Amino acid sequence: MGLFKKPAPPAEVVIDLREPARPEFGKPTRCPQCSTPGYLDRIDIRNRVMHQRCPSCWHRWTTAEDDLVDLDDTPSHAPIARS
Ligand SMILES: [Zn+2]
Repeated sequence: MGLFKKPAPPAEVVIDLREPARPEFGKPTRCPQCSTPGYLDRIDIRNRVMHQRCPSCWHRWTTAEDDLVDLDDTPSHAPIARS
């Protein structure tokens, strides 16, 4: 009857913590100074610019959406800096 039967273990959940292969507009990039993953402060929707800062060294930088489009031929985690 299965009164004392153990329930089947839940399916193993795998969370992919790898960074996306290509930077996307709306997701923070790495700090151009120390390569720490950046913190996205705000997005200027009108000009399509992300304003970011580094939680490690407090460097601030901006990244335009147009800059990310031009990265198709560059390595995936090259920092992008516009100051
Ligand atoms: Zn930094």
